[in-house]
Amino acid sequence: MIRPEDTQLQCSPALDLDLIRKYSVPGPRYTSYPPATKFSAELPALRLEKAILDDNRAGTAGGEPGRTSPLSLYFHLPFCESRCWFCGCNTVITKRLASAGEYLDDLAREMSLTAARLDRRRPVTQIHLGGGTPTFFPPGELRRLGAIINEFFHVAPDCEFSVEIDPRRLTPAHVIALRDIGANRASLGVQDTNPSVQLAIHRYQPQALNVAAFAWLRAAGFESINVDLIYGLPLQTPDSFAATIRDVLTLGPDRLSVFSYAHVPWIKPAQKIFDDRLQLPGPEAKLAMFAVAHELLTAAGYVDIGLDHFAKPDDELAVALRTGTLHRNFQGYSTHGGASLYSFGISAISSTPDTYRQNHKTLAEWRAALDAGRLPVERGLRLSVEDTRRRTIIMRLMCDRRLDFPALSARLGLDFSSVYAAELASLADLEADGLLHRTATGIEVTRTGVPLLRVIAMRFDPTVTTAALQHSRTI
Ligand code: SF4
Repeated sequence: MIRPEDTQLQCSPALDLDLIRKYSVPGPRYTSYPPATKFSAELPALRLEKAILDDNRAGTAGGEPGRTSPLSLYFHLPFCESRCWFCGCNTVITKRLASAGEYLDDLAREMSLTAARLDRRRPVTQIHLGGGTPTFFPPGELRRLGAIINEFFHVAPDCEFSVEIDPRRLTPAHVIALRDIGANRASLGVQDTNPSVQLAIHRYQPQALNVAAFAWLRAAGFESINVDLIYGLPLQTPDSFAATIRDVLTLGPDRLSVFSYAHVPWIKPAQKIFDDRLQLPGPEAKLAMFAVAHELLTAAGYVDIGLDHFAKPDDELAVALRTGTLHRNFQGYSTHGGASLYSFGISAISSTPDTYRQNHKTLAEWRAALDAGRLPVERGLRLSVEDTRRRTIIMRLMCDRRLDFPALSARLGLDFSSVYAAELASLADLEADGLLHRTATGIEVTRTGVPLLRVIAMRFDPTVTTAALQHSRTI
């Protein structure tokens, strides 16, 4: 166990900073494949309405009578009272509380339009409220949201229901309302506990607020609490970020997501305020922050799930990693797979087995589509057979840290090592550097390779050449 006062940067044996330096290039996060940058606005060609019908038919699981495959629901609640300058989310900044009720009326219209196309016997096994700030919604509106969900969908009794929480906009009444509508998991946005950093990013959040939020959520019976942190923000140093990690560890979170700040002011203009680069840590400082986070969290007993995620050994995510049942979706790593995703609200992304579709990103366009009685879809993608194969390969790599050639050949209906011979040959340099090794029947990612999972996956991704520069760096 690392001593709390030890601020010296130490690397876990699994973390090879020279290799991370060598291979850290911009790359997708693979929360979907192909990435959202490939979506098209040519909607008629995508036949997305038909995709929902097809999804219903495919939804009769395994041909078993009476069994229907599950649904996952996502609700984008976009309002925030003030803008955090690093934020990459699609938000609407307002202090006008009535916005919540009006938006909820429109969400109900969207749910009605979608539910009319869906087999409503399909059980909802996963719900996620994201944002924006879901707790911008007053407790009464959160209860109304829960009632509307139950009006249109069949929510399974053991549904995994998670909500993103901003401790600055949380009261005990919010927590009780969320529990009453079935929420059982929470994800707290903390980012950094240092007041100077907080002022630099326009997000002042004393640690006392985080402590109170944890106490209320634990007392209400939330089963799992995640904390989001970001490194690479203005004024952060490796030592200050180590102090943030230690502050957060006192809260005892079940999971942590430790994200690398993506500076993309050409996509997110609010980030231009950081363009005085003297404020932003350089790549070496960011790497040191990543290293210290990895060291402190693994020393405290958290399991490195992959990419940005850490979990207690008895948390479902860590169990899923051990048992080979980990999945990846738009929220990151997940224990639920196989459910079609139906999402509501501005910019929300839905998926059926062979399509993605994304809603309009502005309130005005989203509402205009609802007024016209249309699903408010702006763009999407119909996956080719080859896309679905590549998705399977990339997701297996990202979740299992290995590729099992016989299993992939059976699943994809082809001779995997012949069809993907060029991609497999392209792994030679990664193998020589110890990021992976070949076995008689496949490849396995080594502990050294885990922080560079995205780099390995990119070798199977033909979209990466053109999309690369729009993504964040791998670390
Ligand atoms: S980080 Fe969260 S609270 Fe801040 S602007 Fe973005 S969505 Fe809103």
